[in-house]
Amino acid sequence: MRKFNSSIPFRRWGALLPSPLPLRPRFASTYQQAIAATSPRTTWTRDEISEIYSQPLMELASAAGTVHRRFHKPAAVQLCTLMNIKTGGCTEDCSYCAQSSRYKTGLEATKLSTVQSVLDAAKIAKENGSNRFCMGAAWREMKGRKRGLQNIIEMIKGVRALGMEACVTLGSK
Ligand code: SF4
Repeated sequence: MRKFNSSIPFRRWGALLPSPLPLRPRFASTYQQAIAATSPRTTWTRDEISEIYSQPLMELASAAGTVHRRFHKPAAVQLCTLMNIKTGGCTEDCSYCAQSSRYKTGLEATKLSTVQSVLDAAKIAKENGSNRFCMGAAWREMKGRKRGLQNIIEMIKGVRALGMEACVTLGSK
Protein backbone atom coordinates (compact mmCIF):
# COMPACT_ATOMS: atom_id res chain seq x y z
CA MET A 1 0.00 0.00 0.00
CA ARG A 2 1.29 3.44 -0.91
CA LYS A 3 1.95 5.74 2.02
CA PHE A 4 2.17 9.50 1.89
CA ASN A 5 4.80 11.28 3.86
CA SER A 6 3.80 14.90 4.19
CA SER A 7 4.56 17.60 6.69
CA ILE A 8 1.19 19.17 5.91
CA PRO A 9 -1.31 18.39 8.68
CA PHE A 10 -4.21 16.23 7.52
CA ARG A 11 -6.76 18.91 8.35
CA ARG A 12 -5.40 21.07 5.53
CA TRP A 13 -6.04 18.49 2.83
CA GLY A 14 -9.69 18.47 3.77
CA ALA A 15 -9.81 22.09 2.66
CA LEU A 16 -9.36 21.01 -0.96
CA LEU A 17 -12.82 19.50 -1.22
CA PRO A 18 -14.90 21.31 -3.86
CA SER A 19 -17.73 22.37 -1.56
CA PRO A 20 -17.67 24.31 1.73
CA LEU A 21 -16.56 22.18 4.67
CA PRO A 22 -19.05 21.50 7.43
CA LEU A 23 -16.74 23.05 9.99
CA ARG A 24 -18.03 25.17 12.79
CA PRO A 25 -16.27 28.55 12.31
CA ARG A 26 -14.82 28.74 15.83
CA PHE A 27 -13.00 25.41 15.29
CA ALA A 28 -11.87 26.12 11.72
CA SER A 29 -8.50 27.64 10.91
CA THR A 30 -8.42 30.92 9.05
CA TYR A 31 -7.40 29.02 5.94
CA GLN A 32 -10.30 26.60 6.25
CA GLN A 33 -12.69 29.50 6.78
CA ALA A 34 -11.36 31.13 3.62
CA ILE A 35 -11.88 27.94 1.63
CA ALA A 36 -15.42 27.60 2.97
CA ALA A 37 -16.35 31.17 2.00
CA THR A 38 -19.91 31.72 0.88
CA SER A 39 -19.56 35.46 0.29
CA PRO A 40 -16.77 38.06 -0.16
CA ARG A 41 -15.01 39.17 3.01
CA THR A 42 -13.00 42.41 3.38
CA THR A 43 -12.09 42.25 7.08
CA TRP A 44 -8.98 40.07 6.94
CA THR A 45 -6.28 40.85 9.51
CA ARG A 46 -2.56 40.80 8.71
CA ASP A 47 -2.13 37.58 10.70
CA GLU A 48 -4.97 35.90 8.84
CA ILE A 49 -3.57 36.94 5.48
CA SER A 50 -0.17 35.70 6.59
CA GLU A 51 -1.62 32.29 7.49
CA ILE A 52 -3.25 31.95 4.08
CA TYR A 53 -0.14 33.23 2.31
CA SER A 54 2.01 30.66 4.11
CA GLN A 55 0.16 27.66 2.69
CA PRO A 56 2.09 25.49 0.21
CA LEU A 57 1.85 27.16 -3.20
CA MET A 58 0.24 24.31 -5.16
CA GLU A 59 -2.30 23.66 -2.42
CA LEU A 60 -3.13 27.35 -2.42
CA ALA A 61 -3.50 27.38 -6.22
CA SER A 62 -5.84 24.40 -6.08
CA ALA A 63 -7.92 25.88 -3.27
CA ALA A 64 -8.13 29.22 -5.10
CA GLY A 65 -9.51 27.37 -8.12
CA THR A 66 -12.11 25.70 -5.91
CA VAL A 67 -13.28 28.99 -4.43
CA HIS A 68 -13.24 30.67 -7.82
CA ARG A 69 -15.54 28.02 -9.26
CA ARG A 70 -17.96 28.52 -6.39
CA PHE A 71 -18.61 32.11 -7.42
CA HIS A 72 -17.73 32.32 -11.13
CA LYS A 73 -18.17 30.36 -14.33
CA PRO A 74 -14.76 28.69 -14.74
CA ALA A 75 -14.46 29.54 -18.44
CA ALA A 76 -15.65 33.14 -18.14
CA VAL A 77 -13.10 35.92 -18.61
CA GLN A 78 -13.42 39.66 -18.34
CA LEU A 79 -12.61 41.45 -21.57
CA CYS A 80 -10.44 44.49 -20.96
CA THR A 81 -8.99 46.98 -23.42
CA LEU A 82 -5.75 48.79 -22.65
CA MET A 83 -5.06 52.13 -24.32
CA ASN A 84 -1.81 54.02 -24.27
CA ILE A 85 -3.00 57.56 -23.56
CA LYS A 86 0.52 59.00 -23.57
CA THR A 87 3.29 57.20 -25.41
CA GLY A 88 7.07 57.24 -24.92
CA GLY A 89 9.41 59.91 -23.60
CA CYS A 90 9.34 58.60 -20.02
CA THR A 91 12.27 59.82 -17.90
CA GLU A 92 12.46 56.58 -15.90
CA ASP A 93 15.02 54.00 -16.98
CA CYS A 94 13.16 50.70 -16.70
CA SER A 95 15.38 48.60 -18.94
CA TYR A 96 12.56 46.37 -20.19
CA CYS A 97 10.36 49.26 -21.31
CA ALA A 98 10.25 50.66 -24.82
CA GLN A 99 8.70 53.88 -23.50
CA SER A 100 11.78 54.99 -21.61
CA SER A 101 13.50 57.96 -23.26
CA ARG A 102 16.88 56.49 -22.28
CA TYR A 103 16.83 53.83 -24.97
CA LYS A 104 16.64 54.05 -28.75
CA THR A 105 13.57 52.00 -29.54
CA GLY A 106 12.23 53.93 -32.49
CA LEU A 107 9.14 54.87 -30.52
CA GLU A 108 7.81 58.34 -31.18
CA ALA A 109 6.82 60.20 -28.00
CA THR A 110 3.36 61.76 -27.93
CA LYS A 111 1.46 64.17 -25.69
CA LEU A 112 -1.45 63.08 -23.57
CA SER A 113 -4.39 62.01 -25.75
CA THR A 114 -7.44 64.22 -25.73
CA VAL A 115 -10.38 63.28 -23.54
CA GLN A 116 -12.64 62.91 -26.57
CA SER A 117 -10.26 60.59 -28.43
CA VAL A 118 -9.99 58.36 -25.38
CA LEU A 119 -13.74 58.21 -24.90
CA ASP A 120 -14.20 57.44 -28.61
CA ALA A 121 -11.79 54.52 -28.19
CA ALA A 122 -13.63 53.38 -25.05
CA LYS A 123 -16.92 53.31 -26.96
CA ILE A 124 -15.37 51.11 -29.65
CA ALA A 125 -13.92 48.84 -26.95
CA LYS A 126 -17.36 48.49 -25.40
CA GLU A 127 -18.93 47.68 -28.77
CA ASN A 128 -16.28 44.97 -29.14
CA GLY A 129 -17.24 43.38 -25.82
CA SER A 130 -14.91 44.93 -23.27
CA ASN A 131 -16.39 45.92 -19.92
CA ARG A 132 -13.15 47.35 -18.50
CA PHE A 133 -11.05 50.09 -20.06
CA CYS A 134 -7.50 50.70 -18.84
CA MET A 135 -5.50 53.84 -19.64
CA GLY A 136 -1.72 53.85 -19.42
CA ALA A 137 0.51 56.94 -19.56
CA ALA A 138 4.29 56.75 -19.98
CA TRP A 139 5.13 59.01 -17.08
CA ARG A 140 7.62 58.46 -14.30
CA GLU A 141 5.34 60.29 -11.88
CA MET A 142 2.35 62.66 -11.71
CA LYS A 143 4.18 65.50 -9.97
CA GLY A 144 3.59 68.79 -11.82
CA ARG A 145 0.92 67.32 -14.10
CA LYS A 146 -2.14 69.04 -12.70
CA ARG A 147 -3.78 69.70 -16.06
CA GLY A 148 -3.02 66.19 -17.24
CA LEU A 149 -4.59 64.81 -14.07
CA GLN A 150 -7.72 66.90 -14.62
CA ASN A 151 -8.04 65.48 -18.12
CA ILE A 152 -7.53 61.95 -16.86
CA ILE A 153 -10.24 62.46 -14.25
CA GLU A 154 -12.58 63.43 -17.11
CA MET A 155 -11.51 60.30 -19.01
CA ILE A 156 -12.30 58.12 -16.00
CA LYS A 157 -15.69 59.77 -15.49
CA GLY A 158 -16.48 59.35 -19.18
CA VAL A 159 -15.49 55.68 -19.22
CA ARG A 160 -17.62 54.99 -16.16
CA ALA A 161 -20.53 56.85 -17.74
CA LEU A 162 -20.34 54.29 -20.55
CA GLY A 163 -21.02 51.60 -17.95
CA MET A 164 -17.45 50.28 -18.00
CA GLU A 165 -14.92 49.80 -15.24
CA ALA A 166 -11.96 52.17 -15.52
CA CYS A 167 -8.37 51.81 -14.39
CA VAL A 168 -5.19 53.80 -15.00
CA THR A 169 -1.44 53.43 -14.69
CA LEU A 170 0.28 56.80 -14.40
CA GLY A 171 3.71 56.31 -12.90
CA SER A 172 4.78 55.93 -9.32
CA LYS A 173 3.36 59.01 -7.51
S1 SF4 B 1 8.00 54.20 -15.49
FE1 SF4 B 1 6.60 53.02 -16.77
S2 SF4 B 1 6.59 54.04 -18.78
FE2 SF4 B 1 8.37 54.80 -17.64
S3 SF4 B 1 10.06 53.48 -18.31
FE3 SF4 B 1 9.23 52.56 -16.44
S4 SF4 B 1 7.69 51.08 -17.13
FE4 SF4 B 1 8.17 52.44 -18.87
